[in-house]
Amino acid sequence: MNNIKSQYKNILITGGHGFIGSNMLNKYVASYPNINFINIDIDTYASNPSNVTIDELDNYKFVRCDIREIVPLEKVFKEYSIDSVIHFAAESHVDLSITNPDVFVTTNVNGTHNLLMLAKKYGIKRFHHVSTDEVYGELGEVGYFTETTPLAPNSPYSASKAGSDMLVRAYHETYELDAVITRCSNNYGPNQDVTKLIPKFITNLIKDDNIGLYGKGANIRDWLYVEDHCDAIWTVFNNGLSGSVYNIGGNTEKTNLEIARTLLTKLGKSEMKIVYVNDRLGHDFRYAIDASKIKNDLGWEPKYTFENGITNTIDFYKSINKDIINN
Ligand code: NAD
Repeated sequence: MNNIKSQYKNILITGGHGFIGSNMLNKYVASYPNINFINIDIDTYASNPSNVTIDELDNYKFVRCDIREIVPLEKVFKEYSIDSVIHFAAESHVDLSITNPDVFVTTNVNGTHNLLMLAKKYGIKRFHHVSTDEVYGELGEVGYFTETTPLAPNSPYSASKAGSDMLVRAYHETYELDAVITRCSNNYGPNQDVTKLIPKFITNLIKDDNIGLYGKGANIRDWLYVEDHCDAIWTVFNNGLSGSVYNIGGNTEKTNLEIARTLLTKLGKSEMKIVYVNDRLGHDFRYAIDASKIKNDLGWEPKYTFENGITNTIDFYKSINKDIINN
């Protein structure tokens, strides 16, 4: 996906110290030396500046900036002649949205609106909003989310993302802002904060700790390796039709129990490590994505199998936990 020709010169990346944004920067800044990538982040608990490994490159710039603060945000648009935006920055942890929903609204809704106001004011050529399949709500045992599935978010996180999706749509319809939205399934891979399910399980098992499974571990998610998600975003950002939504998925449905068992086997631990805990409030049963539109219209498909992706992911967390493994 590196050979896509891009017409954009100064791309604002929001939330690039986080999980997916940093993987995007690490791959694409080096591949496109003639494009400037300006990363803004406020480094919440979920971010890690050392996730970005290309920070020495001339076409990369980091500015500490809060998307909830319009004045410093506008300075970035002006100073770097921003011509396009890939918007990752968000509060992204469903559990935290249940205990503290307020910041999800201010960051995910108001922060996105600040970016949209500036995108309109500065005539941004493309606004790519990175969203989630969780905006569609939950599925039963059968069926898939398509781009026309009505939005029915169930958690404060997914509701705040759905709100931001609707604002992006409205800016396209009302002001003709050139905008695209992608809605992706669950990602896994290097650089994800250890409060999220797969990194938490891997790092707990590396430390020989237990892992906690909600309910009976029966909830189903579709998993996609993060590099595949980044390639899909780059494809839609450059070639997607303005005003369109594209679903992105890995065709890899797994119950949380299956994920736990895979990791136990790969890390040589027994099922005794699983502790069943009270279920999450309003826990969506199943998400599954129909990603045929992005495949048929833009030619994107995942490259990683779950086996390859999870092996890379385990290797990454082993490499950053060397001290624990060696002791
Ligand atoms: P993350 O939590 O790892 O990273 C989010 C980044 O945004 C962090 O670096 C954080 O510091 C930054 N941020 C938060 N509030 C900010 C603010 N007010 N101003 C500036 N920066 C701020 O999240 P992620 O997993 O990388 O997700 C990125 C995007 O992708 C999110 O919009 C999320 O909804 C979406 N998404 C994630 C997944 C997934 O499985 N992780 C799946 C589909 C969609």
